[in-house]
Amino acid sequence: MSELDDLYQEIILDHNRRPRNFRKLEDATHQAEGHNPLCGDEITVFVKLDGDQISEIAFDGQGCAISKASASLMTARLKGRRLEEMRNVVSDVRELLTGSEEGAANLETLGDLAALQGVRKYAVRVKCATLAWHALEAALAGEHETTTE
Ligand code: ZN
Repeated sequence: MSELDDLYQEIILDHNRRPRNFRKLEDATHQAEGHNPLCGDEITVFVKLDGDQISEIAFDGQGCAISKASASLMTARLKGRRLEEMRNVVSDVRELLTGSEEGAANLETLGDLAALQGVRKYAVRVKCATLAWHALEAALAGEHETTTE
């Protein structure tokens, strides 16, 4: 089990050091800014929708390692996906991070996103990890700002 934990740790550190899709998207069709006042994370998520496909997704802003790694993992996973697939991923991640039963999430379908599972033990960190996902949902709902409470 500790080897798996090491692997997950490595994925988080790697995405924090070299965040994927870390830039502004000038031609975004949707964007929203997420605030996590508890930790000070501020992350803006940009989405370019082409019909029901996420043709581009990116983020910028600043935050702790967990918030950045989670946003990076999110963009890497969702780029090129259809909205329906996105909703499945979003609900899998929600189950992983905040589901009532530990281990209920399907780690296989989560892939690298499973690396976030260690976060669920730390209530304060969960808000860091879910920030980008809240911002994504706000962006797609046509809102421009969201705050984790
Ligand atoms: Zn944070």
